[in-house]
This record gives sequence, C-alpha cells and structure tokens, in this order.
Amino acid sequence: MLTNHILEIENIQKHFSTHSTWLKKGEPVKAVEHVSLSINRGETLAIVGESGSGKSTLARLIMGLLKPTSGAIYYNKSDINQLSKAQKKELCKDIQFIFQDPYSSLNPAMTVGALITEPLKVHAIGNKSSQKARMQDLMRRVGLQPEHAARFPHEFSGGQRQRIAIARALAIDPKIIIADEPVSALDVSVQAQIINLLQSLKIEFNLTMVLISHDLSVVHHMADRIGVMYHGKLIEFGDCEAIFSKPSHPYTQTLLRAILSPYPDDKKNHFQENKPNLEIKPHIHTGCIFHSRCEFAKLNCSTDPQKLQRVADNQFSACSYAAEIAEASFSAIKPSFSKNVEERFKILNRHNNNAS
Ligand code: ADP
Ligand code: MG
Repeated sequence: MLTNHILEIENIQKHFSTHSTWLKKGEPVKAVEHVSLSINRGETLAIVGESGSGKSTLARLIMGLLKPTSGAIYYNKSDINQLSKAQKKELCKDIQFIFQDPYSSLNPAMTVGALITEPLKVHAIGNKSSQKARMQDLMRRVGLQPEHAARFPHEFSGGQRQRIAIARALAIDPKIIIADEPVSALDVSVQAQIINLLQSLKIEFNLTMVLISHDLSVVHHMADRIGVMYHGKLIEFGDCEAIFSKPSHPYTQTLLRAILSPYPDDKKNHFQENKPNLEIKPHIHTGCIFHSRCEFAKLNCSTDPQKLQRVADNQFSACSYAAEIAEASFSAIKPSFSKNVEERFKILNRHNNNAS
C-alpha cells in the first residue's frame, strides 16, 4: 500500500435483497459489484455513470453508512467496518457528505447559525464563543453574510442553501468531502458558482474530494481522476485528461458523446441521467455487462467476463478491445468535443455572472 492513499476500496460488493412473492423469487439488486480503487490524499476523484449505476451506494459504503456484502474499505489503513465506537466517531468527523438537495438536507426548524455550529457541539469542539466565531468565519468563506445567521433555511435561495450545507460540512475540519451531485438540483445560473466555490475550498481546507456527478463538464473542470460506473461495476478508471482525450470503453464514449452540445439547456444533446433499460438484465449475462448495448460488440463479448485492465500508464478499461475502440471511434469527434466542454463551462459562468 502506498502512503498517499487516504482510502482503499478492496473488491467491495453491495447487494440489496428484494421481496420474493409466491410467483417469483426476488433477485438481489447488485448495486455495487467488485469495485476496487484507491483515493489519493488531496485529489478530486469523480465517479460518473447514469442513474442507478451504484454511485450513491458506493458513496454510502465509503461513509460507513452501509455495510458491504463483501470486501473492505480502509481509511488510513483501518477497515472502516471494524472500528471501535470512538474510531467510528472520528471517521464521521473526517468524512463529510454534501447532498444533492440542500432543501431536504437542512433541518428547516434550525437557524443557519445553529445548523453550522451543530457539528461542533456534537463533537464537543470549543466553547460557545469559539463556536460562534467559527460559524461566522465559515459563513464568510462560503460567501454568506454572518449577519444572516439568525435566519432559517427557507429564507435563502437554492444556491445559498447549498453554501450553508457546505459550511456545515466544513465546520469540523473534515479530511474528505463526498459531494453527491452537489449542483444538479440547482438552477443553471448558480451551478458554476458552487462548483468554483467547492474547487477553491478544496484547496483552502486541504481536502480530498469524491465528486459524484453525471455532468461531465463539471467533472472535467474539477476531477484529477475519474471512475466510470455501469450497473454497479467500475468499467473505466484513470486520469481525467487520459479519459477525456482517449476514452477506452464504449460506455465512456457514449457518455462523452452525449455532452457534445455545449449548451446546458439543450435537452436534446445534453447528457441526461437515463434510467437503465430494465429489459437488459446484466446480472444474467455472462460476458461483458455492456455488450447488449455496445455498438462494437463481438461474439466473445457475450461470453468472456471482463475485468479492468491497464490500457495506458494511468488508465484502466474493462473492454477487451479498448485499444482499437479508443483509436477508431473517438478521434473523429474529439476536437469539437474538447472545445464544447470548455464552452459549456463558460456558458455556465456567464449565467453565473448575469445572476449575481
Ligand atoms: P446512482 O446513485 O448511481 O443513481 P444508486 O447507488 O442509488 O445509484 O442505486 C444503485 C442500484 O441499487 C439501483 O438499482 C437502486 O435501485 C438500488 N438501491 C439503492 N439503494 C437501495 C436500497 N436501500 N434498497 C434496495 N435497492 C437499492
Ligand atoms: Mg445517486
């Protein structure tokens, strides 16, 4: 194990049981399947994939909120599911979560000041006056006015509420922030503001970040490395630049092609979270889980199981034809693609400037 790994995920699986009826035996939902990855101290690791691919389940496993069916997660080399009560409390302090929806994640009956000082109280950090000073400092750092500490969450806009949630997550100096779709519930006009804020706070607070998002322009802007999930499996993993310049799994290419339009409001071209096609039951397939949707599938793809394999120095793909596919299909669209990703972010920023 290398010393710069803050988290190690080893062959983790999470299956949820479903109800059986007298007609049919309930098949377990394999939400996360044999995922292994390490997270480096100080990096932003993005997890992408369509809805239902297991991203939030993986996040909950990392937080210790769900017990894995098998496999282990090590935080600073300790298995998070074997911790003593005191160690567990320390873990809860070190890993904080930012949810998609700041409307439901903040208790509406508490003032903003109380919401931000609550974690300090729970962990018995400081006294009343130091907690108040910390809260005011955090409000400033996330772009809120400390004079508004006595207000309630409903008195703020969506973007401001996400700022409150961020201040609350930062209150006890966490080491890792897991942000699960932190901007997808927000108005386009404030998305870039919150992304820029997270980016600068990450540096200021010396954080490691796990960013879950289906918006690849957000991911491109923030991530050092990317893991692509499909039906619970990690099907591509590697450096952000490598994946954007040479995606080596047909599914990653599908995701990237879907953001060819730079315009965030262009529903037709912009990647929308799709529900996986339930007709396709990857768990009953042998072979590659993506083969029934893959335009490049060959005969052996339906029989040979796929595992992540190294395709470049810092890139792994679960496709047997990774090298061919990376060369053949993406190079033709790449120039317009890179331009559009940046263009899309600029448009988000422009919305942002108009809004403020
Ligand atoms: P994502 O965050 O990528 O949209 P999730 O991790 O939420 O995906 O879900 C992955 C799969 O696991 C989905 O099929 C979902 O329905 C299922 N799932 C998630 N949580 C539960 C649960 N508590 N009980 C049963 N099934 C669940
Ligand atoms: Mg989710």
